[in-house]
Amino acid sequence: MDELFMYIDGEWQESHSGERLDYVNPANQQVIGTIPRGKAEDVNRAVSAAKASFKADEWRKIKPHERGYILSEMAHKIRKNKEELARLETMDVGKPLSQAHADVEAAARYFEFYAGAADKLMGETIPIEDGVIDFTVREPIGVTAHIIPWNYPIQITSRSTAAAIATGNTVVVKTAEQTSLTAMKLAEYFHETALPKGVFNVVTGLGQEAGARLANHPDVNHITFTGSVPTGIKIMKAAADHVVPVTLELGGKSPNLVFSDCDEQKALNGVIRAIIQNAGQTCSAGSRLLIEDSYKKRFLSLLKARFEELTVGSGEKDSDIGPILSKEQYEKIVSYIEQGREQGEIITGGERVQVKGCEEGYYLQPTIIDQLPHDSTVAQEEIFGPVLAVFSFQTEKEALQLANGTDYGLVTGIWTSDIGKAHRLADEIRSGQVFVNNYGAGGGIQMPFGGYKRSGFGREKGFVALKNYTQLKNVAIKYR
Ligand code: NAD
Repeated sequence: MDELFMYIDGEWQESHSGERLDYVNPANQQVIGTIPRGKAEDVNRAVSAAKASFKADEWRKIKPHERGYILSEMAHKIRKNKEELARLETMDVGKPLSQAHADVEAAARYFEFYAGAADKLMGETIPIEDGVIDFTVREPIGVTAHIIPWNYPIQITSRSTAAAIATGNTVVVKTAEQTSLTAMKLAEYFHETALPKGVFNVVTGLGQEAGARLANHPDVNHITFTGSVPTGIKIMKAAADHVVPVTLELGGKSPNLVFSDCDEQKALNGVIRAIIQNAGQTCSAGSRLLIEDSYKKRFLSLLKARFEELTVGSGEKDSDIGPILSKEQYEKIVSYIEQGREQGEIITGGERVQVKGCEEGYYLQPTIIDQLPHDSTVAQEEIFGPVLAVFSFQTEKEALQLANGTDYGLVTGIWTSDIGKAHRLADEIRSGQVFVNNYGAGGGIQMPFGGYKRSGFGREKGFVALKNYTQLKNVAIKYR
């Protein structure tokens, strides 16, 4: 059993109360260790360390390229330890080892990308009148809070903290209570760099205790929250009390639109990958399949055959589909499947899988549900499991209505060989990302990512995310 500690002000710390929480391996539901149950006192300590270090010369006067150097070192350390990190991520989240490897590589890429950006934050000059020079500068915002979900811990912790540190802020991370292992590793690596103490802090604990305190702490200057819509709403309300900006990366019910003129094999592979990755426990999961009516019978029968070939088992064995995180998540998914069974038709899957040697783990067959009304709960709500709901359309207009017909708007996939059609649809789609003849572009850490509608607002990834962590100052100087 591993006992983890929080990382506050450059030191490993126990929670103020001394209470601890178990964390489990989803593969077999065995308790593998404990984390401190951080509460308000612990968050207060972390925020005051971050506040003090933000003001300290040691951090404030560091040259931008030196911040970049520290982040480059992080990328190097992540790559050097990639085997261990991937193994930990699989143990913590349950995901297949190859996917954990891809997450670790993405984490390294975030640090690398924002390392390069640290000394490229430029302002502009604005013409006003003769004798006046007007210019803008981008300044760090202060103490930034990062509240992390359990499904992609190393990637999501890296993407926002690297951008915040590149721009000169200080950071308090609140890990998801279920998955803290790799964030603690990041703390360990930062500890080995020249990063001044107090710049990067990690608090562990429950959402309604540590998370809620971080969201309403008066000394936090920006909150990046990635998680569910109900929690996002609470965070936004808490932030409003202190007039603090938030970036909300929330859920989705993302569609793949498949036309009869698509490249069939590519579309099949893309649609499958989009829903089975991390056992469907992915914000951008392609959980709705919209197929052109005339092509539905063929595509669906090919898809069903491919679904039935997928392997379900432990992440360590790199099965196609790993375990569901917990009993609670599993039961939530099963209740959607049961509703789907009543209101539609299960084409394949829908049953629990017993995995030898991992009998306690919650494994689920990948599931396709057809014939659902598009306004049903199963078609509209995020299921967060390997469950694909299928619908058909006859015209581009109908395809678009279905695609835009949920409260979410995170990602859309379009599969067609008609580039005009792809453009017409991309113009009208209400989601933060549109992929044509691919789904995800390999994760692309450079591409802006974020939601329309209830999928949230603000953008992570790429250069645009740097704006979350800076504020713009305008200076006008009269010299004549
Ligand atoms: P969640 O909202 O339950 O928890 C997310 C984080 O918020 C955790 O750290 C949790 O402890 C904390 N939290 C919970 N209640 C809180 C409160 N009252 N105040 C402050 N913090 C609180 O979400 P989850 O179950 O961990 O993650 C799944 C959700 O996250 C899904 O909806 C998924 O789509 C979304 N997600 C979105 C993205 C994205 O980038 N858009 C990425 C991954 C996951």
